[in-house]
Amino acid sequence: MATIFTKIANGEIPSYKCAENDEFYAFLDINPLVKGHTLCIPRREVDYIFDMEDDEIARFQVFAKKVAQAIKTAFPCVKVGEAVLGLEVPHAHIHLIPMQSEKDMLFSNPKKSFPAEEMQAAADAIYAEFKKL
Ligand code: AMP
Repeated sequence: MATIFTKIANGEIPSYKCAENDEFYAFLDINPLVKGHTLCIPRREVDYIFDMEDDEIARFQVFAKKVAQAIKTAFPCVKVGEAVLGLEVPHAHIHLIPMQSEKDMLFSNPKKSFPAEEMQAAADAIYAEFKKL
């Protein structure tokens, strides 16, 4: 059975799209730590990121780098932090989080919630920057 993230990448479940190419897809985390918190996924289903082949994980990281550059322009921050947990959804994903301080990376923090229009505007801003790269 397809994972929820495969359904998102295929457009069967709605998401706030931030970036995509043939192999990878990026969208806003629905329960963000901060505004602009983005997830990058491979379209191919693989649960554990470190099961990916060397070439694939390298391309995945390059994709995440571009998305991080787009996030940093759309949401000025000190740095974009990267994290991989994968304890909840069994489909490899990289969290990209615009950080003002290390506290923004604490997954034990309460998750934020933004109105749909704000989420859409955030995703659109990231996607607009991604397309320039
Ligand atoms: P983890 O697997 O521990 O890295 O956590 C999975 C992340 O996916 C969490 O931050 C969730 O908020 C996020 N998430 C789960 N379902 C969705 C969804 N339908 N759309 C966007 N983000 C999601």
